[in-house]
Amino acid sequence: MRRVVLANETDWDGWRKATRSLVLAGVPPEAVRWAVRSHDEDGDPLREEQGSFGVSKALVSLASLAIQAREPSRFELLYRLVWRANAGERVLELDEDEDVRRARGLAFAVRAEAHRMRTQVRYLSIEGADPHFLGWYEPAHFVLEANAQLIAQRFSHLAFSIMTPEGGAHWDGSELRFSPGVARDVVRDDAGLRSWWGKHRTGLLRHARVGTAIAPAEELDEEPRPPDLPPLGPVVLPLKPDDPLQAAMHEASDCRRCHLWQPATQTVFGEGPAHAKVIFIGEQPGDQEDVIGRPFVGPAGQIMDRAMEEAGLDRRTVYITNAVKHFKFEPRGKRRIHKTPETPEIRACRFWLDVELVRLQPKLAVAMGGTAARAMLGRAVTITRERGRPIELADGQTAFVTVHPSFLLRLPDEEAKAREYRAFVADLRKILELIA
Ligand code: SF4
Repeated sequence: MRRVVLANETDWDGWRKATRSLVLAGVPPEAVRWAVRSHDEDGDPLREEQGSFGVSKALVSLASLAIQAREPSRFELLYRLVWRANAGERVLELDEDEDVRRARGLAFAVRAEAHRMRTQVRYLSIEGADPHFLGWYEPAHFVLEANAQLIAQRFSHLAFSIMTPEGGAHWDGSELRFSPGVARDVVRDDAGLRSWWGKHRTGLLRHARVGTAIAPAEELDEEPRPPDLPPLGPVVLPLKPDDPLQAAMHEASDCRRCHLWQPATQTVFGEGPAHAKVIFIGEQPGDQEDVIGRPFVGPAGQIMDRAMEEAGLDRRTVYITNAVKHFKFEPRGKRRIHKTPETPEIRACRFWLDVELVRLQPKLAVAMGGTAARAMLGRAVTITRERGRPIELADGQTAFVTVHPSFLLRLPDEEAKAREYRAFVADLRKILELIA
């Protein structure tokens, strides 16, 4: 029996090297015991075996996700799959195979937890000579390291730390480091976390190890490829913890003002800096936004990002939300088909839009598409008639109507698509002038 001791719960590099060496040495899965180092124990020495073997990229990608699951048997499960694949079995085509089903289930759970972590960590702003954003999260799986790497790529200009019970990730703008974690009962609330951080920050950062976070970039015998994780969407600056929008966001997560909360995954609140001069209002979250929990991160968001960039608008400086905060859809087989919200739903959700408008006091409220225009203007709006000019509202706000970016996606012919895209960019340029 061979005993492999991995350095930690997400020792992808260690698992990968051991797997390669064991497969090449012909050691079958039932002759290997996998463990994570708890003291100073070492496993059996592994020889550097010469040779190569074939494992598909899809299997490597699956393993790199499933290894982050909080499931003790995952190392042997994944080794067994690699062993079988190397023996010529096309394992990933065996949908009913118990090992494949389990590995896919673990990978799915890890993906879901990664989404949750990336959208639910709320940060405390630590002011001072060395400003820092500090978050705390209790992940269901070991997703900290892989996701800290992605968050650092997106928040590259901000220093942040994310603490979990099992570890901490620290980004200082140039280097990602990992430290031991902190137990939940030590940091019961924001004040506890802040005070703990004040006492331990220096020592923690001094001893933190430079991270080689998990990522399937280094394959077993494959070319490098980027991590197979869903896109994060654009970065938004975290709100200060005492900002009223934080409290509203929290409250809205339990909203029952209309029935739309029932089939949807979660409330998708607006995001963006509290000092934004302009608020962009869409219709409702789409299928992807509903899962990820952030507005405009799906296909419509991507086209909007592109148009904004072309118009010279920095998405990080604007606030983006929807008139209706839950995804309205009709299940059709495995798909969820978008349904336009009706007037009672728009009216019910106007409560949250009002909270956002009152807090932000934007110079301009941009309504994208008919639903948002109806929510802002309080009446049915013909977009072509009202589009592209400031509209003074009775409550003193200034609105601006344009198309919803998803309209551009739905146009069937390329010429119309290009024309409407240019018109949308032109509207964004006008918006930029109006808020200057
Ligand atoms: S759609 Fe708006 S009003 Fe309706 S439950 Fe969701 S958050 Fe509440």
